[in-house]
Amino acid sequence: MPAYEELESEVIEKGLCTYCGACIASCPLFYLRWIDGRPKRPEKKAACVDCEVCYHACHRTAFDVGTIEGEIFGRRRREDDDIGIYRHVIAAKAKDEKIHEKAQDSGVVTAILLYLLEEELIDGAIVTGRGEEWLPSPMVAKSREEILSAAGTKYGISPNLMKVRTAVIEEELDNICIVGLPCHVRAVRHLQHINFELAPAIRFVIGLFCHKNFEYARMSAGIAKRGVKMGEIEKISISKGFFHVHTGDTKVSIPLKETTEWHSKHCLACDDYSAEQADISVGSEGTKEGWSSVILRTEKGEKVFSELEAKGYVRTKEIDDFVTIKRNSMRKRRTR
Ligand SMILES: Cc1cc2nc3c(=O)[nH]c(=O)nc-3n(C[C@H](O)[C@H](O)[C@H](O)COP(=O)(O)OP(=O)(O)OC[C@H]3O[C@@H](n4cnc5c(N)ncnc54)[C@H](O)[C@@H]3O)c2cc1C
Repeated sequence: MPAYEELESEVIEKGLCTYCGACIASCPLFYLRWIDGRPKRPEKKAACVDCEVCYHACHRTAFDVGTIEGEIFGRRRREDDDIGIYRHVIAAKAKDEKIHEKAQDSGVVTAILLYLLEEELIDGAIVTGRGEEWLPSPMVAKSREEILSAAGTKYGISPNLMKVRTAVIEEELDNICIVGLPCHVRAVRHLQHINFELAPAIRFVIGLFCHKNFEYARMSAGIAKRGVKMGEIEKISISKGFFHVHTGDTKVSIPLKETTEWHSKHCLACDDYSAEQADISVGSEGTKEGWSSVILRTEKGEKVFSELEAKGYVRTKEIDDFVTIKRNSMRKRRTR
């Protein structure tokens, strides 16, 4: 019977853990915690009787893409579904200037969250806030201010799913949205597939495009080596082959090929670029600066997006460069 020991030896210690936090959320005894940048059971208590829940909650121990996509989309993927199953692809940007002050690219993710909250389709969202020195910090956002405070990309792992327990049990939220990378999205869909008891509260999933994530300690050391203190940074972005660190009126641009040693090990075993099981996927590639590429995947995602567009949350136009999104997706599938 696989239990925590097997989760540790087969997933965490093998470098496959995506640090999504699902095992922590699933532990019925609250023994698993986030310690030193990883999920850990600090001590084996007598009550931890190899219940298997944490092992089976992990999407790395089993992810049945065909069955899960059948549940989400009503059909399995075909050979030609090269960016995953979707209904529509479009370029969009948030209309609200307040969002643009904080957002990474177009503010579309924040605009969707604000629409969901303001229309009471959700009562909270699990997002990634900015902790001290840019350490990604998962949080439950229940107000416009909290959602705005979490806008912007923080490179590094963020165990967002561990906040499902906080949101549903401690904060008593019944309807939540989760924003995350392709690995978070898989983790959510796996929890829904195995009928995790708190999963029914997850109503909406927004996925972000991702080539690879970075390991915070190595990334911050690499940035420090180039003379920038994490505390001074205003924004970190990636474009045109460079990792840009913006501080006040200066910008340090590091060639991406010099950042490969910062990559998280688990990303080497990931074949999903565009969060293929999300309701809506969003990324900057495929559109001009200030816009985002938006993939409307589920019927729910398409409906919500057309409603929020009609209500003036976003403006839209045709996508500029769909080929790049397809190429990136295919390339990442091949790296597996
Ligand atoms: C690690 C990482 C790698 C990415 N790689 C690519 C890429 O290769 N190509 C591409 O086109 N786009 C990539 N993106 C997505 C891109 O950076 C923007 O998030 C996306 O374009 C949405 O922009 P926005 O202005 O709509 O987001 P905003 O409105 O600014 O909202 C950003 C949202 O991202 C969430 N977030 C921030 N950091 C994290 C994190 N570490 N983990 C999970 N969620 C987080 C926040 O909770 C917030 O809700 C990546 C994002 C991350 C976090």
